[in-house]
Amino acid sequence: MTIYCGSSAGRDGSFVRDARKVGELLAQAGVEVITGAGATGMMRAVADGALEAGGTVHGIIPRFMVERGWDYKALTRTTVTETMHARKELMARLSIGAIALPGGVGTWEELMEVITWRQLGIYSGNIVVLNTAHYYDSLCVMMERAECEGFIHSDHLHLFTMADTPEEAVEAVLSSATNSFSPKL
Ligand code: AMP
Repeated sequence: MTIYCGSSAGRDGSFVRDARKVGELLAQAGVEVITGAGATGMMRAVADGALEAGGTVHGIIPRFMVERGWDYKALTRTTVTETMHARKELMARLSIGAIALPGGVGTWEELMEVITWRQLGIYSGNIVVLNTAHYYDSLCVMMERAECEGFIHSDHLHLFTMADTPEEAVEAVLSSATNSFSPKL
């Protein structure tokens, strides 16, 4: 299961708490966690939650970040890619579904990319956005505005689902844990 999330922890303690819980729940379900291998913030929390519950975590990170010492050494295994684009492609290719947790522009970019790939039929896994502390309320507002203005087809409002709790997010993403990734780019 691929997790997109911040390299920062956020101010509200609920962000890290939920990230750890998502990792724990996936480990208990016997599902490997795939992250961007960061050693900080939300990425570290989701990995710690999974590892402490006996699960495995596969980190995928570009070489320049490893050279800066940003990779989390405690992960079960790490794959080093040559570029950011190769990292994101591999994260999608290995994915049986995706959960986005709160994060900054890096997380939004990854989330928007995988939603776009699903819209184009490149990615077919479930995509769930965990709305901890209503962080992603404004994303729903933006989607509705885009549909209202004719920029998003109404069918495409359901490319991802929102979840209020880690339990809901994991249940939703595992409701059909399959993906085929066929890049046409
Ligand atoms: P953000 O949501 O802006 O914190 O960005 C999260 C994403 O940014 C990650 O998935 C990575 O693509 C990248 N990133 C930024 N900082 C780091 C870091 N220290 N370690 C690993 N990845 C990072």
